[in-house]
Amino acid sequence: SDDISPSPYIEYDRLLGGLLIEGFDEKSCRSRYQFARYHKSPSIPSPYLIERLRKQEVLQKRCGPGTKAYKEASKQLRSGQSINMTDCNYLILTIHAGLGNRMLEIISAFLYALLTNRILLVDRYKEIGDLFCEPFPGTSWLVPSDFPLNYCEFTQSSPESYGNMLQNKVAGGNTDRSLAGIRPHYVYLHLDGNYGFHDKLFFCEDDQQFLQGVPWLIIRTDMYFVPSLFLIPGFQDELSRLFPEKDTVFHHLARYLFHPTNNIWYSVTKYYRSYLAKADKRVGIQIRIYETKGILQRNGPFPHILNQILSCAQNEKLLPEIGMTEGAAAETQNKGAAADTQNNRTIAVLTTSLSSWYSDQIQKKYEEHPTVDGTTVKVYQPSHEEYQRSRNKKHNMKALAEIYLLSMNDELITSGFSTFGYAAQGLAGLKPWIMFRSENHMVPDPPCGRAMSIEPCFHQAPFYDCKAKRDTDLGKVVPYVRHCEDVSWGLKIV
Ligand code: GDP
Repeated sequence: SDDISPSPYIEYDRLLGGLLIEGFDEKSCRSRYQFARYHKSPSIPSPYLIERLRKQEVLQKRCGPGTKAYKEASKQLRSGQSINMTDCNYLILTIHAGLGNRMLEIISAFLYALLTNRILLVDRYKEIGDLFCEPFPGTSWLVPSDFPLNYCEFTQSSPESYGNMLQNKVAGGNTDRSLAGIRPHYVYLHLDGNYGFHDKLFFCEDDQQFLQGVPWLIIRTDMYFVPSLFLIPGFQDELSRLFPEKDTVFHHLARYLFHPTNNIWYSVTKYYRSYLAKADKRVGIQIRIYETKGILQRNGPFPHILNQILSCAQNEKLLPEIGMTEGAAAETQNKGAAADTQNNRTIAVLTTSLSSWYSDQIQKKYEEHPTVDGTTVKVYQPSHEEYQRSRNKKHNMKALAEIYLLSMNDELITSGFSTFGYAAQGLAGLKPWIMFRSENHMVPDPPCGRAMSIEPCFHQAPFYDCKAKRDTDLGKVVPYVRHCEDVSWGLKIV
């Protein structure tokens, strides 16, 4: 059946084409096996991806916290003495930034761990455990609390930072080979948006070969750096086996890795059933505003953004037009009634925004005027938090619930630049209509455009050609890595 009704009687593939395995306790994490009830997928994961995920699970369990291998490796890290490379090597991810960014960085780190046979462990202090269930069977993906390094304190200028080591010529693939004998116990990878030339050499083949010999990598990033992994020759074969459909990396890995905890999942499914399930069509609109109008009015209200949303939705036929004048409205309504007496179609619109003004206005417009085809439009918005508070647990739980609710729609309109929207479109497997950023408080023309793929955009992608040792346009090197629709200097997989 095409229906994605949440009825437990409708058949659905709870293991998501083999991404998931049986055997987890269902009650402690309902979302894991219920996700498929609410989501279709445009793509089937490759058998090779599934095989690699199973291998990774074995690795995570064999080398994870509490194991003999982990104790041994962390003892070496603590003492700083002789390194014996074992087959347990680690990638520690420090977490910061907003929730959308966090999801993108976790997926990027996980893919990198998969490609380099490392165990991924994530920062335990950023309430990741409150937001997501454990993804791997029989082990934890949270960095143990007695981890020997104070990894959160590393910065770009720390001596342990890879970019810094390269600059000081104590390590690396691109530098003086006579120093290549150096093998640090651990290296800090600074891949935040503000990173510099030497940090970006992480994306070069030779540097990857050097890093291969380092047992512990600590990574800090707030970005979806996957597109640049596709440009590293040494990863290309493996990546095309893992993802024969290249633009499904985030889609499959996010469905594999992210399972919201019970409280969040309960609020998502309850909201879905109460307001969205019965509609004939669901349209998600993610409204993220980066313009300001004085400090106190971060989210507007901006009438031009309201116009942009409505023009986008109506031009692209996602929402019906409104009969504007009372008379005309009544007339078209009559005509509509004559032509199609039984249009009791309803469209549910799920908006997410820090402000409630936009959804109130959209609702008001559809309440005050009948639509030209008689369709009823109802608008719902679960919260309006007013401003971003990424350190607040409740706030983050609401944000995650809304990312999941957005992903349950049939069509999506998102705000360009926003990772919150990328996460929702990726989970959904939908190509959204992206609203472009407006300039000078004018509605851009066109107000929105269809995304080329469901993948997120890598905002601060490097543009250095490692072989030629000069800058180049990396959006033109291979057909499947292009510049993003919304961030012209960014890169995305298409
Ligand atoms: P980005 O900044 O748009 O790329 O997205 P992020 O998710 O990384 O950071 C924005 C943060 O602001 C979110 O994680 C939320 O904490 C908050 N936020 C932004 N938009 C919304 C929204 O529509 N609903 C809720 N609940 N929170 C939002």
